[in-house]
Amino acid sequence: MRTPILFLLIVSSAVAQTRYDLLLKGGYVIDAKNHISGIRDVAITQGRIAAVEENIPASNARRTIDVSSLYVTPGLVDMHEHVFSGSMNREYTGEACVRADSFSFRSGVTTVVDAGCSGWRNFGEFRDEVINTQKTRVFAMLNIVGHGMGGRPDVEQNTQDMDPVRTAEVALRNHDVVVGIKVAHYAGPEWIAVDRGVEAGRLANIPVMIDFATFRPERPFQELVLKHLRPGDIYTHQYLQVVPMLDAQNRVLPYLFEARKRGIIFDVGHGAGSFSFRQAIPALKQGFIPDSISTDLHIDSMNAGMKDMLNVVSKFLNMGMSLDDVIACSTWHPAREVHHEELGSLSVGSDADVAVLRLVHGDFGFVDSANLRMKGERKLVAEMTLRDGRVLWI
Ligand SMILES: [Zn+2]
Repeated sequence: MRTPILFLLIVSSAVAQTRYDLLLKGGYVIDAKNHISGIRDVAITQGRIAAVEENIPASNARRTIDVSSLYVTPGLVDMHEHVFSGSMNREYTGEACVRADSFSFRSGVTTVVDAGCSGWRNFGEFRDEVINTQKTRVFAMLNIVGHGMGGRPDVEQNTQDMDPVRTAEVALRNHDVVVGIKVAHYAGPEWIAVDRGVEAGRLANIPVMIDFATFRPERPFQELVLKHLRPGDIYTHQYLQVVPMLDAQNRVLPYLFEARKRGIIFDVGHGAGSFSFRQAIPALKQGFIPDSISTDLHIDSMNAGMKDMLNVVSKFLNMGMSLDDVIACSTWHPAREVHHEELGSLSVGSDADVAVLRLVHGDFGFVDSANLRMKGERKLVAEMTLRDGRVLWI
């Protein structure tokens, strides 16, 4: 009768010794949500973060990876991409989009937000063909235009197809993956696109992201961020050259700080044509830093100055932001902005989405949308990326 008890004791001690599936040992952890910036071990079990502690013995894990001299961060969250890829032969939706998995993990990214490629009419197709097929976690901002980002003027400028009620209905029905409403590329003189987008956001209780497109005197940018948007709404393309940002002495205009104080979120959305060093360098020096760093990844930005998420994050590092701040802006901040606070951190119990990054020192060049160059000495590269505890890039 004693043998089974002894057997049980042996089994439980073996279980205790290999409590964790995977241990990332000796890395420098940056986790803004949990206020960690220091050397920690990170243990993962069954796809979730099981422990983040100063010294977890390797004997407690089935597999241990030495990540000393590397940085361990939450999987990056890129909140402005274009991933409704396919052969639909339409701008942005189709041939101008990229496959999320082709660009995400190699840049430490585990979650991307598609910024408005689909609208309420074609969201089902986007969900079936992209969201449900990619290993990357894909969220969507629904375009206020029912047909989404069609590119052609008859699609994107058609105010008849901007229906806040139907847009909000589809957002609510898919609230697990629809995280916002997108307004983009509207060229007309009225506020109709913005206001209908905000109305959809109000009905679905989600934020609105604005690409203000053509800046016109009839609808000044100042009014967008001071009046039309609600706290928690997002202006993307923060450092676009035409944003009224600096006075003649290169001082940041006070209304921008006022807008931030009322809760407007400013996101980078680098893209092919939406990031200017002439705006960003003086603005950062004066404290007008981004809330979130995002790529605006699509086929025109990926082979130009933007390149990929870690290149954009590295730009901000070389413009003077701290490593802790650039990681916060590409993990916890965007997760919070899209109301998915279960992401963007290494909290115990959360999905084990993890980036292991190396900070490389050397002589690097960075380019903006006007082909201006900036030299830099530091660059982040991804050594390993995990989604739900599985190594998907190494
Ligand atoms: Zn975009």
